[in-house]
Amino acid sequence: MQIRSAFLKSPWNCSLRTIDLPDYVPDEHVLIRVEACGICGTDLSNAEDKLGDWQPFGHEIAGVIERLGEHCPGLNVGDRVVLESSSYCGRCDICRSGRVDLCNKAPQFWMAGPSMGFADYLFAPACCVVRYDGLTPEAASLAEPAGVAYDMVKTADIQHGNRVCLIGPGPIGLMAIPMALRSGADQVVCIGRSSTRPRLEAAAQLGAKPVACDRPLTEYPELQQQFDRILLTAPVQVIPEALSLLAYGGILAYIGIGSGSGMISFDANDFHFRKLQLRASFASPALYYPIVLKMLKNGTIPADLIISHRLPLSGIEEAMTMCREEKAKTIKVVIVPDEESGKND
Ligand SMILES: [Zn+2]
Ligand SMILES: [Zn+2]
Repeated sequence: MQIRSAFLKSPWNCSLRTIDLPDYVPDEHVLIRVEACGICGTDLSNAEDKLGDWQPFGHEIAGVIERLGEHCPGLNVGDRVVLESSSYCGRCDICRSGRVDLCNKAPQFWMAGPSMGFADYLFAPACCVVRYDGLTPEAASLAEPAGVAYDMVKTADIQHGNRVCLIGPGPIGLMAIPMALRSGADQVVCIGRSSTRPRLEAAAQLGAKPVACDRPLTEYPELQQQFDRILLTAPVQVIPEALSLLAYGGILAYIGIGSGSGMISFDANDFHFRKLQLRASFASPALYYPIVLKMLKNGTIPADLIISHRLPLSGIEEAMTMCREEKAKTIKVVIVPDEESGKND
């Protein structure tokens, strides 16, 4: 079967090509027709400096099962599904000790087949498939980044009445706002650059107090030591100045999407005497899809506010350029394969 699939190579090369997809669906795999796939910060950082060779990409996927390989119990042709970007195996010692959150040894679709999410079709292991209903494919494609946001909020261990600061109002940060509020946060202050005005406005609609900061965070006396928890989705270089915003005993949870060096330095004595904690959130394996799908369905996460642009698969190159050059104007860009997809091949 001939399908269209997008490929990426650093720096900032993106191309849509026609490729042959084998007719045979491997055992314990399904063939998925992609209905929506979001562009993620990881895609942008890979485009910037991480991929030496052409690679298929796209991992925030919602689609329909078109065909089943052998041994896919519980799945049916026609099921609407989202895909875990990595899954736990359920069999290793770590899984059997109850820490499935620390295992990602299950087969995954990431870099495993000829195509990924920015394509008409892809193969995926049955174990990473999660069924959904009652959502548009675009909204369902937010399950993956929403799971990332949920992991960060959980990692921050927000307590009732906490003052929370979110630094970085991208799609993940924005989705973390209602999650933090429902976890008991008294207030969420959202810090972003003044150039990202549409994102700060979205933060306000989600219940946060937006604050535009264009100077180092240490230069804002009114923010110093004001927060019990910080959620940080900005580049890790912001961590040292963000620590100054934590109150005594505060916790900073961060996700490390970013390009370039991850080296940072901060005053460990001050960190010690103020009893601070720095916690990494990394949603691998991807968990919590049933929970975040429910949040998307009941409006806790308003998908229409997060998704700012929809483009067809034929517009993937344009979409990547838009994410790069007009970052401030976009929130989440979702690719929705168009009508002349390989559907009838
Ligand atoms: Zn993602
Ligand atoms: Zn395992």
